[in-house]
Amino acid sequence: MSSSNVIDGKAFAAGLRGRVAEKVAELKSQKGVVPGLAVVLVGEDPASQVYVRNKAKQTLEAGMQSFEHKLPDTTTQDDLLALVAQLNADPQVHGILVQLPLPKQIDANAVIGSIEPAKDVDGFNVVNAGRLMTGAGKPMVPCTPLGCLLLLQDRLGKDLSGKRAVVVGRSNIVGKPMAQLLLGANATVTIAHSRTADLPGECRNADILIAAVGRPEMIKGDWVKPGATVIDVGINRIETPDGKTRLVGDVAYSEAAEVAGAITPVPGGVGPMTIAVLLANCVTSAYRAAGLDDPAL
Ligand code: NAP
Repeated sequence: MSSSNVIDGKAFAAGLRGRVAEKVAELKSQKGVVPGLAVVLVGEDPASQVYVRNKAKQTLEAGMQSFEHKLPDTTTQDDLLALVAQLNADPQVHGILVQLPLPKQIDANAVIGSIEPAKDVDGFNVVNAGRLMTGAGKPMVPCTPLGCLLLLQDRLGKDLSGKRAVVVGRSNIVGKPMAQLLLGANATVTIAHSRTADLPGECRNADILIAAVGRPEMIKGDWVKPGATVIDVGINRIETPDGKTRLVGDVAYSEAAEVAGAITPVPGGVGPMTIAVLLANCVTSAYRAAGLDDPAL
């Protein structure tokens, strides 16, 4: 397979961040409003700290305001709910992101449910999930699946009519919203998971194969239909024989790349899209709060 069949998420995300920065500048000059993103981190989870740092850096680079709230891992649910209420009421904050996972004394659903839906830039609130599912109102769409859809539509066009899509994974943050987005784009969608009887067989039917499992290189080359578009959401750190570690996806990349029509690498595929879409969602929220139409991103 030629390198033109590698879907370069890093480059696409850079382009999207550039468009976001232009829309930030336009909003500032038209309305004097600077979009603001509040990120709340509870505890010391090292991976979460890296994500939060990257989010803050890219928020500032896009010309937006970044509000970071770091709380100890002993924080109570009531304290966190009080902070979310304060951010809900703050007109400088257009997006609120509570970094998951949360410590065990806090019910993540209660916290996500308390975020004002218009500011729920992660799109995890049930109101946004319901809007995405029913088509009623304007949802905030979860960042990773929306990033996957943008990469797919860049390759295949906006209308996925006639395509069979298989999503492996049914989480609320990736698999389920991904399936809804594909359905919305007119694909014929199957959601597979750990209880699926013949996973390789299901995958071989897919013109579009989305892997969101969290199992290193589980999807083999001979599970991929020749010419399929493969989007690998998985991020797994594995040990190499020399005692170091490296990141791999849920798809056995080199095997699958021999067969696929197009495929995202890990890293450099879906990963960079997540923060770029988060910034896009925050700008969209700021445009809506200012009474403007959604910006074309
Ligand atoms: P999750 O909540 O753990 O869900 C994993 C899904 O995979 C579940 O639905 C599970 O099925 C299914 N599954 C597990 N083992 C399976 C198997 N052997 N065969 C078929 N299905 C299986 O994970 P997630 O949050 O959706 O994340 C999935 C992956 O994406 C992870 O590697 C994560 O790190 C990565 N991720 C990346 C980004 C990004 O920015 N690129 C963002 C989010 C997540 P059951 O429901 O039946 O248990």
